[in-house]
Amino acid sequence: MPRVPYWNIDFGIVMDLLAIPVIFIFLYGFYRQWLLIRQGKMRVNPDVGKMIQGIAAFQPGAFFVRGILNEKLYRKPFSGIAHGFVFFGMAILFIGTNLVILNVLFGLPVFNGAFNQWFMAFGLDLAGVLALCGVVFFLLRRAFMPERLKLPAARKGFVIACGLLGGILLTGFILEGARLAAGSLEIGAFAGNLIAAGFIGNTHALSIHTVTWWIHGLLALSFIAYIPFSPLVHIVLAPVNAGFADPAPGVKMGVIDFSSFESEDSEEAPLLGADKLSDFTRKRFLDFASCVWCGRCQEVCPAHSTEKPLSPKGVIVTMAERLSKGQLDEPVWDNISMEAIFNCTTCAACMEACPVSINQPKTIMKFRQNLVMEQSKIPELMGKAIASLEQRAHPFFGTGSGMAEWRKDLDVPFFEAGETEYLLWIGCSVTYEQRAQKIGRAMVNILNKAGVSYGILEDFRCTGDPAKQMGNEFLFAEIAQQNIEEFSELGIKKIITLCPHCYNSFTRHYSKLGGDYEVIPHGSMIQMLMDENKIKFDKKPQRITYHDPCYLGRRNGEYEAPRALMSAAGNLIEMPRHKNESFCCGGGGGNYWAEETGRRINQERAKEAFDTKADIIATACPFCLLMLTDGLKKCTEETKAFDIAEIVASCLPDVSRSS
Ligand code: SF4
Ligand code: SF4
Repeated sequence: MPRVPYWNIDFGIVMDLLAIPVIFIFLYGFYRQWLLIRQGKMRVNPDVGKMIQGIAAFQPGAFFVRGILNEKLYRKPFSGIAHGFVFFGMAILFIGTNLVILNVLFGLPVFNGAFNQWFMAFGLDLAGVLALCGVVFFLLRRAFMPERLKLPAARKGFVIACGLLGGILLTGFILEGARLAAGSLEIGAFAGNLIAAGFIGNTHALSIHTVTWWIHGLLALSFIAYIPFSPLVHIVLAPVNAGFADPAPGVKMGVIDFSSFESEDSEEAPLLGADKLSDFTRKRFLDFASCVWCGRCQEVCPAHSTEKPLSPKGVIVTMAERLSKGQLDEPVWDNISMEAIFNCTTCAACMEACPVSINQPKTIMKFRQNLVMEQSKIPELMGKAIASLEQRAHPFFGTGSGMAEWRKDLDVPFFEAGETEYLLWIGCSVTYEQRAQKIGRAMVNILNKAGVSYGILEDFRCTGDPAKQMGNEFLFAEIAQQNIEEFSELGIKKIITLCPHCYNSFTRHYSKLGGDYEVIPHGSMIQMLMDENKIKFDKKPQRITYHDPCYLGRRNGEYEAPRALMSAAGNLIEMPRHKNESFCCGGGGGNYWAEETGRRINQERAKEAFDTKADIIATACPFCLLMLTDGLKKCTEETKAFDIAEIVASCLPDVSRSS
């Protein structure tokens, strides 16, 4: 029996008429979502030019690759493939249904020849079967939920959505089988033909067809009406969120313009962080509304996975629930603890894992800024680090090292205005932490050997990054301004950094305060010298595993230069979690100065590195080096953790690793 509209159905027009209010409900549901999201603050001033700029920031590539093709979902192959079956299966069935409508309305010849056999029969049957398999997978997973879905709460509505989809697909197959049984089997329609065999000789086949037709239609209409009021709203919100997500890697916190505090117009004063929903921008509201409560962020979070109170999923779903209930102005502290907010190492693993492009760390950091700048609340050790920054221009309270100790007995030139090409920015951890001082010495040896025109500052202060990470934007802005002024007096244009936190500050934040420099991380600088044959060394018979610092890798997209160096110095072997899926050392977000509760993050990471059986555990960040060195004490008494500069320097003729 070919497809004939309303075959075996009386009053089928009723279903078409029912579709009209359903379309209105569907559109109203999304309009309601927009009304919720538009309550957020505008990220830019609402003048037309800025609004056009905002819309122009939309990334069609991210919309398509991350939002429509769901690129990140496949990192978990089972659920990714099941999602693909459901999403693309239903999309193909939707196309098929529309082709039938076009055939009915305009006689589009879709039921002829090969197209009918391969798409309308075989293609649609295959899409339906795969979609059904996906639905069964998701229903089973709801019955046996992994922890990431269950905790701190599971989103309601997925079972109803899967039930509706499963019902639509099953009734669709029954309809096809009954239709084919009443006529003849169809080449390609393998599922329909199979079901048709069950109908042959059944005297109730036509009645079953009629009843199923109504059930199928009503299920389909219910499903469409349910989409904007259910977790399925992400079908539309997730691609839009991906399109408007910042294309730069990492968190990109921006800087606060404190000059407006001097204005008499108090309306102009910027917010100091956030403590309630209404403090966030529309983009963050879109984040909250897009969350599917999948818990992938929570699963990779170093704080959560070491039994600390922070759950990035918990933070986002708290805000999502407040958004859906319209709780805009109630402070969040009943649901989100100060301890959780300071547990965040700002590693961006959650962002990287999130399938719908949500920026969890930005929300967490806004809460942290509020705690520090509005409420003067900060954990004790972090408070001491901030006090040291204010009084001594570096956060290493209790250090026994002076500013020049790291370069004792070393030939290090000072930066000379108009003469020197690169400023070698030493940074406070290399200056004041004994173990990290060797990074500075190694880099000086490499630069001297290569004959690079470089110099250091005789007297310097921190970049201010620890203040920013701990939420004290006032202090960061003050320190950054002082550095920018000094750099400008010296005519500094090019900077080599030893620490990814300094690199991140100079490139992401100083540029917003008027300090524009060409900044090069030390790994990239060494690779450049190697490529230009300015340094030469032979590979040693050593196995090296490399730990990606979060502020170099996930937050700034640099994965390859350190690997190229380590491959030149020995045999590189990877840890299970590496590159964009690397696990934090635990020191980021100011947590270098934290009393950890639960298991220690650095010990977890050090064990993972140790278990590779590598001879050397390399990294490219002084904070990572210090955290890993400490963490490794649980595994071995040997010194195994080194910075990439130390490893390269030890391969150079006449330079030892400890010089
Ligand atoms: S940035 Fe890192 S520590 Fe913070 S919530 Fe995300 S995964 Fe957890
Ligand atoms: S924030 Fe992203 S990763 Fe986390 S639960 Fe929501 S959708 Fe999943």
